[in-house]
Amino acid sequence: MIYLDYSATTPVNKEVQKSFLDLSEQYLGNPQSIHYLGIKNSELIKEATKQIANLLHIKETEIIYTSGATEGNNWVIKMVADNYQNRGRKILTSKLEHSSVSKPLAYLEKKGFIIEEVDLKQNGEIDLTDFQKKLTADVILVSIGSVNSEIGIKQPIKQIAKYLKDHQAYFHCDVTQSIGKEKISFNGIDFATFSAHKFYGIKGIGVLFKKDKIKLEPLIHGSGIYNRAGTPPLELIVTMSKALRLSLTNLTDNQQKVLKLKNYLISELTKMPKIIINSNDNCLPHIVNFSVLDKKASMVMQALSAKEIYISTQTACRGRQDYSLSVLALTNDKKRAESSLRVSISHLTTKKELEIFCQEIKKII
Ligand code: PMP
Repeated sequence: MIYLDYSATTPVNKEVQKSFLDLSEQYLGNPQSIHYLGIKNSELIKEATKQIANLLHIKETEIIYTSGATEGNNWVIKMVADNYQNRGRKILTSKLEHSSVSKPLAYLEKKGFIIEEVDLKQNGEIDLTDFQKKLTADVILVSIGSVNSEIGIKQPIKQIAKYLKDHQAYFHCDVTQSIGKEKISFNGIDFATFSAHKFYGIKGIGVLFKKDKIKLEPLIHGSGIYNRAGTPPLELIVTMSKALRLSLTNLTDNQQKVLKLKNYLISELTKMPKIIINSNDNCLPHIVNFSVLDKKASMVMQALSAKEIYISTQTACRGRQDYSLSVLALTNDKKRAESSLRVSISHLTTKKELEIFCQEIKKII
């Protein structure tokens, strides 16, 4: 099998997997219970929270555990709109956001909120002049992710944060595709969201970073600790902190490995007829998006899948829509969007795997 779909999800790190099993054996009890077992549980969660806070240079009290980025994104978007609509009803975003951002925004639009998409420059970065123009006094939230999941386009997060410094709007940044892959700073960001399974952790856990001073109603009501209702999943929280530590410890080495692999892949793909590369120099090296002209993306993906080579047509979360909204937003070319494929690589990828992948693509063409 050749797995080239690391942006959809990553394999669980073996050490993380072992910790999960050990923890589930050793930590009986509900972290919310106030007897000995409960306290032992909650102390371990506190330690893990401290580690995550240290790794991300944020405060422990700014960490809220969620089931993943989808929950975090829904929470921020729906609750900022609900809690702060007395200040204004306008939200700024981009055409490159994940469905767990664009769909809650579409839901709010139906309720009368004004959702405006900032124009993109040719390389997919938001146009900061247009951003400033659209950033009127009634904007209450800006939701722009750090890295797009389909093409890998990076956004100028620091500059966006700078423009928002003296504005009432909160800045929400979905960092799901960049965490563990590149250095990120939470400075100037009010809310950030991510999932552990994108950095070799286990599915079903993520973080909503929320600046201490901001009040936000819960999305899910009930009783709980760590600012979210429900029993905290100790094994998932503790293993997420481990996965994060491991991925950040090896960040530079892994980045260099991925960059080499990406350069090799692009150089091979550009030699082939009928291929246009959609990713550009403003993209994270972990994602290479390209179109095979005259071929439907789903057909190419299935042909590769039959050879046990796994890549994506858009993100795994788009469902049945048969073209990439991100490629369409970037290129304004429906044919290119319909024939676009996403290869997502990791430090675990080998050159041999990419060689085999390229041979198979050649055969398909
Ligand atoms: N945001 C981005 C940018 C993503 O890539 C994903 C996962 N594809 C999500 C949010 C949602 O993450 P999850 O499915 O873990 O909730």
